[in-house]
Amino acid sequence: MAASKPLDAYRRKRDFSRSPEPEGSDSGGSAPRFVIQKHDARSLHYDFRLEADGVLVSWAVPKGPSPDPAQRRLAIHVEDHPVDYADFEGIIPEGEYGGGTVIVWDRGPYRNLMGEKDEPLTVRESVEAGHVEVWLEGEKLRGGYVLVRIDEEKDQWLLIKMKDTEADEQRDPLATSPESVVTGRTIDEVREEAGAG
Ligand code: MN
Repeated sequence: MAASKPLDAYRRKRDFSRSPEPEGSDSGGSAPRFVIQKHDARSLHYDFRLEADGVLVSWAVPKGPSPDPAQRRLAIHVEDHPVDYADFEGIIPEGEYGGGTVIVWDRGPYRNLMGEKDEPLTVRESVEAGHVEVWLEGEKLRGGYVLVRIDEEKDQWLLIKMKDTEADEQRDPLATSPESVVTGRTIDEVREEAGAG
């Protein structure tokens, strides 16, 4: 019997003959990185993804991340995505799973802060324990962020900025920098370009 692979759930939900999303390989790259994709699907949300064990561990964040430690943003843990999904920007056809427009809103390397504790945990172990701490080195988001599980049954978490030198209660990069860090395009521009053929 074939062992289940981390990306089975991801692949099961998608028809790759219809969607331009990557099917993904089961072996990942080397340098761990994070990506935040802005995804205008049935409802707009941000997908927060951490590369770990050759896949992207993923949460859907309806209101998106904030550099303000007072903002606790709901984050729903979703299925692992393939590492090459971090580069995906484009349109998932309507009627397909997650149909809508995706841009790469932020990305960069990250550090697993739980791996630097007295009793170190990998990202996967931290997810299982319901408490993840990372240091992001993105273009828009930097510094420590914690993800803490608040409802095990629904797999609901909170994404919260840690209080450090990168915390900033004034800054709102979701509003001031809505564009892709890869192409400089907004969601609307990606959709319009696709419509124009
Ligand atoms: Mn999404």
